[in-house]
Formats: sequence, structure tokens, C-alpha cells
Amino acid sequence: MMENIAVLGSTGSIGENTLRIVRSHPGKFRVKAIAAKKNATRLLAQAREFSPDVVCIYDASYALRLEKKLNPLGIRVVAGDEGLKEICTLPAVKKIIFAVVGAVGLKPILSAIHARKAVAVANKEPLVMAGALLMREAARFGVPILPIDSEHSGLWQCLQGQRPDAVKKLIITSSGGPFRTRRVSFEKITPESALKHPRWKMGRKITIDSATLMNKGLEVIEAAHLFRMPADRIEVLIHPEAVIHALVELVDGSHLAHLALTDMRLPIQFALSYPDRLRNHLPVLDLVKVSSFHFERPDVRRFPCLALGYEASRRGGTAPAVLNAANEVAVEAFLNYRIRFTDIPRTVECVLKKHRIQKNPGLSDILTADAWAREEAMMCMP
Ligand code: NDP
Repeated sequence: MMENIAVLGSTGSIGENTLRIVRSHPGKFRVKAIAAKKNATRLLAQAREFSPDVVCIYDASYALRLEKKLNPLGIRVVAGDEGLKEICTLPAVKKIIFAVVGAVGLKPILSAIHARKAVAVANKEPLVMAGALLMREAARFGVPILPIDSEHSGLWQCLQGQRPDAVKKLIITSSGGPFRTRRVSFEKITPESALKHPRWKMGRKITIDSATLMNKGLEVIEAAHLFRMPADRIEVLIHPEAVIHALVELVDGSHLAHLALTDMRLPIQFALSYPDRLRNHLPVLDLVKVSSFHFERPDVRRFPCLALGYEASRRGGTAPAVLNAANEVAVEAFLNYRIRFTDIPRTVECVLKKHRIQKNPGLSDILTADAWAREEAMMCMP
């Protein structure tokens, strides 16, 4: 049986890898819809190759150009928030891969859940902002949220068959990013050097988050929601080899670990094929070549974003949405040479300090907090 899927963010790093998996398993998955923000050229090429029913270009100014080329092929073109909603609710689609970057994924994920689609989520920001709400709605509508983030995919796999009361703590690893061994002059770090990740090839925003370790802060919050575990039972370890992505410590002292090469195609494939496992031609881990594993605790004085992530998770309510929004604004400003690398945590901390947390927020409270934090971040930046 072919499974009908949609890919939001199909032109990005996760999106392209998703389409590589589809390509490598002919007859397994059928791409019914794809979406991107403005990369019309790539979207057009993908539409020609996969013949989806619908293509969404978020930036409506490119829609006419796409319509001219795709309507004659019987492919409909939609745009904007309404377009994203439409492809998340297409009756023929069974599973949706969320590979957009940032808060923009929140409403589409909710639409997909409400339309009873299985959601496979790489787009971590919505889970950070509104994890409790998304988990609650997914349970209410009886749909699974399948993690794609490599650490969360690893945890998910280690937790298969474990009773919740058997789990003592969760451990996720970080390679440490490009500045793991750097001791001084963090304020002189340029976007170019921060974009050179030693292990993973990813989109620009997550690469900067990996350099500040905010990515791990976001992942702690994400894991807390996905696996219903308080942040103080989720540990982050620096593991430069980046082979072990996640561990689960059980109450009897046993540790289960997930090991794999740094290749996002593997967690994407598992989320696509779950509960089945598919054979593939991906490179396989050679433990003899790795030969040794190293671990260290993260240094939150040099990487304060990680501590901010824990703090937002502990404070709960609207705090994680505020953390995420302030971080998105600060990362964008850093990439545009407007602020220094060290201003990213300063901006996030400043906004978090000013925020009056609302407990048990609904969607509108979260969106209000998100918008407030984006404005406050502009005020907090030097
Ligand atoms: P990229 O920047 O490479 O790609 C982002 C994708 O989202 C692009 O296709 C972009 O379109 C699209 N997009 C952005 N905004 C919109 C919008 N408003 N409407 C429709 N499409 C939009 O990001 P990544 O693939 O690296 O990351 C995607 C998500 O997955 C992030 O949340 C990230 O944290 C997470 N993730 C990524 C990993 C990785 O290895 N890359 C690993 C684990 C998690 P366009 O090309 O037109 O701009």
C-alpha cells in the first residue's frame, strides 16, 4: 500500500532529505502536497518530479509564476497561511512531514491534528512554544506525533516497550557545535564561522542554534513534552563524536542508547515508515572506525542559552514561547550582522526577565506571547 504524504518545507534540508527517502523507496510513499516559503524554482522542479495534487508557496508573489507552469499539469497552487492549512487538511493525505523552520509551523500542525493526520515533526519550534497544547490535541484526536529530530527519534526508539515507571531519566547528546573548545572572544564570532557545524549539515537557523547550544535548550523542552518528563530529568551531555544521539536511563541503572551516523535520512525514514523498518542503502555506522566515545558536561557559563532553555521549561506556561520567539528574532539579527553572537543569549534573557508568564495558555495566549516577545526582543537588542 502506498502511503499518501505531504511535506511542508520541502525545499529545506529536512524537506529535501524527506524527498530523497521517498525517491529511494519507489511504490512506498506518494507525495500529494509540498510547500515552501519562496524558493519557487526548487518547488517547481519538485512538483514536476513528484506530481503532487497541490503545491503551496507561502509568499503569494510567486504564486502566479507557479500557476502558469503547474496548472497545465493538473497541479493546483495555493499560497499563504490559508494554503498551508489547505494542504494540512487534504482528505487524501495520511501523514504530514513538518520541515518548515520556526513558529510558522504551529497553526498548520494544529490543523493537521484536527484533520486527524499523523504528524511527523522536525519543526521543533511549535513543540517548544505549545507542546502541552499540541500533545493534548493529538491525544484528543487520536493522532500520533512522530519525532524526526535525531535525539528525539533516538529516545522514542529506546523507549519502545518501556513502562513509564521504569524510566529514571532521558539523556540527549550534543556534538558541542563549532565552538566547543573555544574559551575566549565569543563576541567576535561571525555568522560565517557559526554556520560551520562540525558534524551536521542543516538549515541556517538550526545551525546557529547549535552553535549557541540554544538548540539543546529547545530540545530539552521538546523532549519534556513528547515524553512527558520534567526538564530536571532530561540531561544534556556533550559527545563530540556525535554517534550516540540519545540514552534512556532505567530505574535499575541500565542504559539504553541509540547510535547512528549523523544522517537525518535515518530518523526521517523511521518516522515515515513507523511502525515498520525499511531496508535502505544509507551508510552504516562502523564502530571500529569510531573507536572511542567521549562525553563531557556542557559549560553553561560559555553557552548560557542552554540554561535559558531549562529555565523556560521549568517556568512553563508562556515562557517557552517567549524564549523561542526572542531567539528567532535574535538569530535573524545575528545572521544579518545586526548583533553579536553574545547578544543572542543576552536578548533572550532580557525578554524572558520582562515576561509575565501565563499558566496553562491556550493558542491565542501563546500567539500573543510570541508577538509580544518579538517586539520586546527588538527593544532588548543593543
Ligand atoms: P531549512 O532552513 O533548510 O528549510 C526550511 C524550509 O521551510 C524551507 O523549505 C523553507 O522554504 C520552508 N519555509 C520557511 N518558512 C515557511 C513558510 N512560512 N511557509 C512554508 N514553508 C516555509 O531548515 P531545516 O530543514 O534545517 O530545518 C527545518 C526544521 O527542522 C527546523 O525547525 C529545525 O530546527 C528542524 N530540524 C532540522 C534538522 C536538520 O538536520 N536540518 C535536524 C533536526 C531538526 P524556502 O526554501 O522557500 O525558504
